[in-house]
Amino acid sequence: MARYLIAGAGLAGAVLARELAESGAQVVVRDERDHVAGNCHTERDLETGVMVHRYGPHIFNTNSEEAWDYVNRFTPFRPFINRVKAVTHKGVFSLPVNLHTINQFFNEAFSPAEAKAFVEGLGDDIPEPANFEEQGRKLLGSALYESFFDGYTRKQWGCEPSELPASVLKRLPVRFNYDDNYYNAKYQGMPEQGYTAMVQAILEHPNIQVELGCSVAPQDAEGFDHLFWSGPLDQYFDCQLGKLGYRTVYWTEERSQGDALGNAVLNYPDMSVPFTRKHEHKHFTPWEQHEQTIVFTEFSKATEEGDIPYYPVNRPADKALFRRYVELAKGCDGVSFIGRLGSYRYLNMDLVILETLAFARAFLNDPSLTFPP
Ligand code: UDP
Repeated sequence: MARYLIAGAGLAGAVLARELAESGAQVVVRDERDHVAGNCHTERDLETGVMVHRYGPHIFNTNSEEAWDYVNRFTPFRPFINRVKAVTHKGVFSLPVNLHTINQFFNEAFSPAEAKAFVEGLGDDIPEPANFEEQGRKLLGSALYESFFDGYTRKQWGCEPSELPASVLKRLPVRFNYDDNYYNAKYQGMPEQGYTAMVQAILEHPNIQVELGCSVAPQDAEGFDHLFWSGPLDQYFDCQLGKLGYRTVYWTEERSQGDALGNAVLNYPDMSVPFTRKHEHKHFTPWEQHEQTIVFTEFSKATEEGDIPYYPVNRPADKALFRRYVELAKGCDGVSFIGRLGSYRYLNMDLVILETLAFARAFLNDPSLTFPP
């Protein structure tokens, strides 16, 4: 019987463990933290009783029936629609940019067609936007771009918006109707008992052994048929070619009575405040009643020794370095790299699940696979 070691008990590690276990293999999953679920870990705040997203808010959204069925197989989901507001020195606006935002911002009462024509007229003439800033200025014009995207992005990524790929902006829709749902996805929701309960259920299998509070080093693969690494790709190689750029986020926490923000998420795009967002976690579980409340104020910075990596920065130099690590990885036997950190990409939870499921199927046919297909 095959014996596998998986480094990391986040979503990728758990989904892979389950697939391998169901194929009959014995799987050991190790994580250096004292909990499963990686950065989507949720836990009850002891003081307020509120379910907090310890490493920042995660709202499950997907167009894939396969991903939606998969998560619902392990835990009940409740409907949840993320409706974000932007707090700026010009006022509070609806996000993502929609007809309400445009009408408030320009003090107009445009119809959808009028707003579309108006905003198209504002857009800079950039035939093929090559980066985040060009994409924003072309799509929205400079006034909207600068009010909602420029400052937020500088704070979030710590670099010039022109250094980021246009794809980061494409994550957000722009709408010419009053739909203020942050996501376009067909299926959206929140696990009733939190993400950690969901990941625990995925890992609940007689062939899976979970070991928490212990890190994995490449040499720990000895005695196993294969190692699956869901940590940072550069870390596996002891950063021998240099460090890949990651952003980390951190929070200050405030507890009080009642309703502090009036919403689950408020974004702060102005440069005059140092943070990017505030989250009031009890609004992520509107089916629960809590007298008390807890608010996280989110800051972003480059990772330093010991920080948890969240977002791959993906500037051209990082991408070039990543490609060199990929070549190195392809030359290694007995190890594969999975998940957001293993593949150095800005992946949403549904894609992590889908890719890992596809990887598991492919790996069981071809154990020489280094990365998801
Ligand atoms: N963004 C922005 N202003 C906002 C929200 C997002 O400029 O109010 C930009 C920012 O660069 C961010 C990207 O759009 O990194 C993607 O936003 P999303 O809300 O998807 O970020 P996540 O929740 O993944 O951190």
